[in-house]
Amino acid sequence: MAVRATASRFPIDSDALEASGLPWGLTVTPFASKDETGIGPAYGSNGHLLPRCENCYAYFNTYCELDQWAWTCSLCGTLSGLSSDAIARYSYPHDSIPETSSSFVDLELPLDGSEEEMTQARPVYVAAIDLSSSEEFLELTKSALLAALEALSPGSLFGLATFSHKIGLYDVQGPIPVVKNVFIPPDAESKLPLELEDAMPLLQFLAPVETCKDRIAAALETLRPITSWERSSGAAQGIDGVLMGGRGFGTAMEALFNYLGSEFGNTFALARVFAFMSGPPDYGRGQLDTSRYGEQYASKRVDADRALLPEQTPFYKDLATIAVQSGVCVDVFAVTNEYTDLASLKFLSIKSGGSLFLYSSTDDSTLPQDMFRMLNRPYAFNCVLRLRTSTEFKPLHSYGHFFPDPQYENLQHIICCDSYATYAYDFDFANNTGFSRHSREPPVVQIAFQYTVVVPPEGLQNSELPSSSRGKHLLQRRLRIRTMQFETAQNINEIYDSVDHEVVLSLLVHKVILVSLEDGVREGRALLHDWLVILTAQYNDAYNLVQYKNGNKSMSSQIDITFSQCPQLEPLPRLVFALLRNPLLRFHEEGVHPDYRIYLQCLFSVLEPSSLHCGIYPSLTSYSTPDKQAYPRHSLSRAALLTSDSPIFFLDAYTTLIVFYTSTADPSLPFPPPQDCLLRKNINMVKQGRSITPKLMFIRGGKDDATAFENYLIEEQDVDGSGFASARGFVSFLDDISQSVAEYMK
Ligand SMILES: [Zn+2]
Repeated sequence: MAVRATASRFPIDSDALEASGLPWGLTVTPFASKDETGIGPAYGSNGHLLPRCENCYAYFNTYCELDQWAWTCSLCGTLSGLSSDAIARYSYPHDSIPETSSSFVDLELPLDGSEEEMTQARPVYVAAIDLSSSEEFLELTKSALLAALEALSPGSLFGLATFSHKIGLYDVQGPIPVVKNVFIPPDAESKLPLELEDAMPLLQFLAPVETCKDRIAAALETLRPITSWERSSGAAQGIDGVLMGGRGFGTAMEALFNYLGSEFGNTFALARVFAFMSGPPDYGRGQLDTSRYGEQYASKRVDADRALLPEQTPFYKDLATIAVQSGVCVDVFAVTNEYTDLASLKFLSIKSGGSLFLYSSTDDSTLPQDMFRMLNRPYAFNCVLRLRTSTEFKPLHSYGHFFPDPQYENLQHIICCDSYATYAYDFDFANNTGFSRHSREPPVVQIAFQYTVVVPPEGLQNSELPSSSRGKHLLQRRLRIRTMQFETAQNINEIYDSVDHEVVLSLLVHKVILVSLEDGVREGRALLHDWLVILTAQYNDAYNLVQYKNGNKSMSSQIDITFSQCPQLEPLPRLVFALLRNPLLRFHEEGVHPDYRIYLQCLFSVLEPSSLHCGIYPSLTSYSTPDKQAYPRHSLSRAALLTSDSPIFFLDAYTTLIVFYTSTADPSLPFPPPQDCLLRKNINMVKQGRSITPKLMFIRGGKDDATAFENYLIEEQDVDGSGFASARGFVSFLDDISQSVAEYMK
């Protein structure tokens, strides 16, 4: 569990918080195996015996005072008694007990009754493939699923389904694959004429991976796109025989969740559905009206950046609830450049703990690699995340992909969570007092994370084992607790000096995403601009940098816009500029596809702070040869490139990696860089540490089209995209901020 705060020294009260101009909060990556400094937890068992505070329910931790019979809570100061077991336990030397030796513990919990019955629940995976698609799409999907089959542990169950104007269920357990079809009523109200269970019993549909791998592959080979002839005979025919579509995605998903739900808690504890789509649902339940996209282009009077962001129907939000109740997590893979309205569809994945992937074409899609990567890493499910603070302050908002608990505040349910998934909180003071200046009690945060993991059976690789003992997965319930003490800042400079700009960026990104979803992209941009103005003003005020003189006309020239007195704040103006240049916040008119914007919103709201930093302000390094690095860091400016005489640049924008050879590079330098060179080694290292597979591009300046690379050189670009070649980009952005700061400070 990695936790990073906006500043390691907390503001002393709400006046100090306001005066700082900074957000106050933290990010948490609960299933990360290490903390933010690379140290792992102390492992143990009997998490249910860990003493809890009688007043605030915080867990006993290393910051608590322990007496012989009782302990004092480090969060609220309440004295709680110890049970006789705990007294005996804590009277031994403390090194062997996780909770007295580390503030980061991971303890096994006993399974409750219902879980106990299914300790051998098997992982279940279902692929749902769009047949209202193309040959290329199906080829890509097949190779992704073949990669997936390699990644699934033996003992897993796999189901293959298709959707179009009908749902196809495959039985691959017999000698030849058999498909059963259920036709979908075309209208948005009707349900299926037949339950899927009646078409094919679920346990016939879910096949053991290890014995049926070849037949699953064979079944995949038989998949063909639905032809228009087939569609027009089965599906709705509009006026004059015009085809009305045939992608019954909503009905298919609804039926599939109900189908799987019958075995939830019995065969499986979590089923994952991979939904492969090649376009918007346009048939049956949950069909989406994609003409709203065209209408936006047609009428300039509506703010497109606002109109296309909210969902057009609650259908998929509601469907996500059904998925969760059925124990299903949905990963959506959209391979399309058509407007698909991910704004409506996204809830299916983010609410159910799944991921949303968008590939604009089948050609350069990293879908098979993403799939393999996703299945190869551990995940936790059925998670509960709870943040507690000492009494002087409290969590105000929480951000990330989770279900808030309907009953308890500050309790989040996470259906499925990998080691990358990150959540954020911001804080507020509980009252006007704040932290006492003279108190010995420092601010404390405790994060408790309860989760289940599937432990694969041991000795699986050994095929000599009798089949009865193979494929037995065990469920394990665990409790991970992290308790952190912070310091308070005696003055504003102490806050500024302890700022973590990447965490500040994370909170800002969450806030602007929320604002743009509610009030449009324009408002999101305005919020960001105003935030930087206020921060700069507060900073200049704090350092007394501006002399107020009567009739001083050059006030803005005195303003320190670059935060030269505080290295921790210095990166922020550049990050805000880059965020304004990011497709997340660029205007519709600049050609940002609404689905891509939604995809970025979903991606950016789960990234841990350093990855997010990379996504917003890509890192640019240079090499003098493929084997020798020249500079570790360049600003994203053409000027920086021109003044550096390095021939090779490597840009990491999180989703994209670009190796760029300048037009003046020595032609004898090997292109693309050879497999065994340092640059390749670094590229592979970056790829390995990433939650998604970044797209890798090689570009030769002067020979290839370098637009993809040049677009990332943002510092000469106009901040709102309306500028021309003469625009001074970042420099004029700073001028503008400085003018606004001067106005504000007057
Ligand atoms: Zn307490």
